[in-house]
Amino acid sequence: MDIPEKLIEILKKAKKVAMLTGAGVSAESGIKTFRDPDGLWTKFNPAELASIDGFMSNPKLVWEWYQHRRAIVFDAKPNPGHFAIAEMQNLFDKFTLITQNVDRLHQTAGATNVLELHGNIIDNRCLDCNRNFEGETSLADKFVPRCTHCGGLIRPCVVWFGEMLPEEAFKQSELAAMHCDVFFSVGTSGEVYPAAGLPFIAQNYGAKIVEVNPNHTSVSNSMDFVLRGTSSHVLPLIVEKLKN
Ligand SMILES: [Zn+2]
Repeated sequence: MDIPEKLIEILKKAKKVAMLTGAGVSAESGIKTFRDPDGLWTKFNPAELASIDGFMSNPKLVWEWYQHRRAIVFDAKPNPGHFAIAEMQNLFDKFTLITQNVDRLHQTAGATNVLELHGNIIDNRCLDCNRNFEGETSLADKFVPRCTHCGGLIRPCVVWFGEMLPEEAFKQSELAAMHCDVFFSVGTSGEVYPAAGLPFIAQNYGAKIVEVNPNHTSVSNSMDFVLRGTSSHVLPLIVEKLKN
């Protein structure tokens, strides 16, 4: 595909760029969206597994589901889209990466200061005292571990249905949207608010907004540029053009 010359021109002048990424970026690393459970888990409703009510009513079941998803994440590798994004961080004065993905593949690819709007699936925290337990959980843990400090149940550091986004990460995302020259919406359906509103904040503040997605989405028609392709295909092409 051809990247519009006009967009490259704008990007070459841009000082501040922000990017929101979603499930499409990780899909190419073999990670399905959690709305689309696989294998034994197809019979469960993700909204029930990924919620505090689901966890309280059956902690072991929800823990097993997360262990299953972690096993997939631990096996996954960043794809060319992740690497291109990490490289883009070095091409502008300021590049803010905002992700809805919980798999940490952006960081594995070398991205830094990632704003994780939905938390991450690697770390855990105590449901009662909120203490963080960083690092990989042993996949051998079949039962929900207990907090070594207070004995509370340990839960994954992901944002569940019905929970607020991490306040500081979202505030930083809004600020980045307000102050950027170009805002990219990559591999995200544009349907989950408040994250889906970020490109429009950017547009209202004068930025050009760009969608990278193989499919038409509910926000496509509002975009200044639409690049119809996967992030692993489109983003390396942009990086190549910017470096020349
Ligand atoms: Zn605790």
